[in-house]
Amino acid sequence: MFPVIFVSLGPGEPELITVKGLKALQAGDCIFCPETLSKEGERVSRAAGILLQLGIPENMLCRFPLPMSKQRENALSAYDRIYSEASALRQQGKKVCIVAEGDAGFYSSIHYIYDKLQADGIPVDHIPGIPAFIAAGALGGLHVASLEERLTVIPGIATVEDIERLTSENSAIVIMKLSRCTDEIHRCIRLHPEYRYHYFENVGTPAERYLNDSKQIAALRFPYFSLLIIRTGAF
Ligand code: SAH
Repeated sequence: MFPVIFVSLGPGEPELITVKGLKALQAGDCIFCPETLSKEGERVSRAAGILLQLGIPENMLCRFPLPMSKQRENALSAYDRIYSEASALRQQGKKVCIVAEGDAGFYSSIHYIYDKLQADGIPVDHIPGIPAFIAAGALGGLHVASLEERLTVIPGIATVEDIERLTSENSAIVIMKLSRCTDEIHRCIRLHPEYRYHYFENVGTPAERYLNDSKQIAALRFPYFSLLIIRTGAF
């Protein structure tokens, strides 16, 4: 029997999936794909958009709603349901894939299903993918970290003091989930105009945006799909 395969889709641009990931999807019988409800009550799924652009037919997708609230219980019960459905389909000999944007093991709550399957002795496989911050670095033409520089990734709970400490320790910084720390980022830009700020939004989609003018960045409200790279190094 086949393992349940966690396929990383990359940041948004369909061509940024790996060959291995695409082959797994094309060979799959059922592809579990998260979707969320927009403020207007519309069902949206960036993952499904990538799959359709890759030529995966809609009838192979098993879309499932994923609550985005900070209350983890709702998301966990959605994942428990996918766990049961995925393991039942696998028992029937089906090839099951579960997809995640970016890399499926990098700030990806879907990994909870992976852990649960593995804990129950069900074979799993994780096909790696390009995380959004790596694609962002390429879009901005950045050397994300160089020479002796360290790299710290912060999941949206950054303070100015954290950023000051990290830069003094020669660390480049990636801040994800930016909408969680908008005010602190604005404050940091006011206090430290000497840092270099690289702001990215919706990388790999038609709405993609890259700004490195700190005044412009300081005037923004950050959407969910945005991240910031802060560097102080010479290049
Ligand atoms: N597994 C993903 C990360 C998911 S966490 C990965 O490997 O990249 C969600 C956060 O990732 C968002 O809040 C945002 O900070 C970042 N992100 C994901 N996709 C993005 C994109 N296309 N453009 C900019 N930021 C993105």
